[in-house]
Amino acid sequence: MKILVLNTGSSSLKYQLVDPATGQRVRAGQVEGLGSAHSHADALRPILAELGSARVDAVGHRVVHGGEQFVDAVRIDDAVLSAIEACVPLAPLHNPANLAGIRAARTLLPDVPQVAVFDTAFHVRMPRRARTYAIDQGLAAQRGLRRFGFHGTSHRFVSALAAAHIGRPLSDLRVVSLHLGNGASACAIEHGHSVDTSMGLTPIEGLVMGTRAGDIDPGIVLALARELGVDGAEKVLNTQSGLTGLSGISNDLRAIQAAAAGGHDGARLAIAVFAHRVRKYLGAYAAVMGGLDLVLLTGGIGENSAEMRRRILQRLDFLGLSIDDDINGDARVNDEHPIAEISAEHARVRTLVIATNEELQIARDVAAVVGDGKSVRQPRPIPIAVSARHVHLDRTGMDVLFGTGSELTPIKPLSQPGQFACAEQVTIVGPRGRIERVRVLGPLRKSCQVEVSRTDEFVLGVDAPIRQSGHTKGSAPILLDGPRGALRLDDGLICAWRHIHMHPVDAEAYGVADGDEVEVAVTGGPRDLVFGDVIVRVSEQFALEMHIDTDEANAAELSPGAAGALLSEPYTRPERGEATLRSKR
Ligand code: ADP
Repeated sequence: MKILVLNTGSSSLKYQLVDPATGQRVRAGQVEGLGSAHSHADALRPILAELGSARVDAVGHRVVHGGEQFVDAVRIDDAVLSAIEACVPLAPLHNPANLAGIRAARTLLPDVPQVAVFDTAFHVRMPRRARTYAIDQGLAAQRGLRRFGFHGTSHRFVSALAAAHIGRPLSDLRVVSLHLGNGASACAIEHGHSVDTSMGLTPIEGLVMGTRAGDIDPGIVLALARELGVDGAEKVLNTQSGLTGLSGISNDLRAIQAAAAGGHDGARLAIAVFAHRVRKYLGAYAAVMGGLDLVLLTGGIGENSAEMRRRILQRLDFLGLSIDDDINGDARVNDEHPIAEISAEHARVRTLVIATNEELQIARDVAAVVGDGKSVRQPRPIPIAVSARHVHLDRTGMDVLFGTGSELTPIKPLSQPGQFACAEQVTIVGPRGRIERVRVLGPLRKSCQVEVSRTDEFVLGVDAPIRQSGHTKGSAPILLDGPRGALRLDDGLICAWRHIHMHPVDAEAYGVADGDEVEVAVTGGPRDLVFGDVIVRVSEQFALEMHIDTDEANAAELSPGAAGALLSEPYTRPERGEATLRSKR
């Protein structure tokens, strides 16, 4: 199998034809000078002509930002294309160029599967405490302000390769991966998952880079913006800072090292600040993971600069990390020999220099997506809504409780199209106790239905069956008290069966059908939980959302904005021995 890997920037297009099985790079090249006159399609046409006879089985596109939606590589269709488009505000320089590359390739190779591999995907599920900025959470949610992280493809590649090299499962290891190139980031990898990373909402945060400042007091950003305007400040932080700004020479560490050797103070400062920042993150991530087993250095600087590696890794014996200076000085890595271990003999933490190969990782991801027939788009995380106790009324119920001919007063639309919360409230009266001010939801239905939690049942002194909405026949009796009268229901009281509303398009993407029972994992919060027995409800009228009650939400300590993931493996309930998830994924 041959995968054409495309990495499109605004002015350049890099390509490689890779065999994912052997890692062989069949062809590689780069076209510069793209712009309005010379389109991405213009650049790609001669490349394809040159590849000619070499069959392209699939195309893999490096896409910088996949937002929160993409946790994995995904086959590109129109829906995926618009989802990537929706992430443009998050990566205004990169995603438009990536999209131009995708469009060109789809036009020129209409019959070849196209797959997107995202820099952000590896980090999307990092723990909430690591991805959250300490700002007003309403503001953060509204504007999508969270840590995303980048270089995920590289961190993933080197960590997997390193684990294989030392013969231990990644799931046993606490790894700090340092990708030090022109762009640079650190990543804490625990049990194979990214648990923190130094780049943030944008690639500016974190380590010192070729031209980006990395971590900086936001007060400086504000002061610069006041003085230079927002665009001026952005230019300073993105393109005139980092090694370039510190040294006043260049973003190329080789030139800086040469100048430093000649006594250039700015060059010496640049090297010292760069190394200091990396050390700081290394220590911080060891603390985050409660220890350290493996440190990986990659990217142009990590792979090639023994001097920088030595500066970063000196005096870390207290962590159990120490390198052999001679071996470090001699270490050379390349595609054929991608790993050199530089740990000192007695070191408990193993330190490896690794040649990253993002193109090979992308090619492998593409092969996995295309090969196992994952032809539908990667389903997005399922937003979770917590339903507090509530009441649905029919016409009769409305007449009795609020007066003949009275109408509902909508106060707030609900996420499911056409549904709304009303100003009207009633009291639920049970044999043991009563619950006041219970919200009525509209519109009116064919029959009354009262939905409570298990905790509510104890307050009321009733025993409600777990039912799907609308399935009230034979459910528990209950008394409702309204401003104009009381209504006795012979049945209608239920404890809602946790469920997912899906539009048919979502159901198709998840490979499930109406009535299926599935498992949903809620992770990233303080108490990860897998909900079993979740029923899927599919209708043109539904928007994707999982509904659980307050007891269930409390058990998982959910916070607003929580989302769940459909477990991909078919699950067999041990006690009943029946498969509960018929997912094609
Ligand atoms: P990018 O992030 O653009 O892919 P690279 O990973 O190629 O960048 O890294 C580029 C950086 O690596 C530059 O700062 C360059 O100076 C540095 N570099 C490459 N080779 C060496 C070397 N032999 N010694 C020191 N630095 C090097």
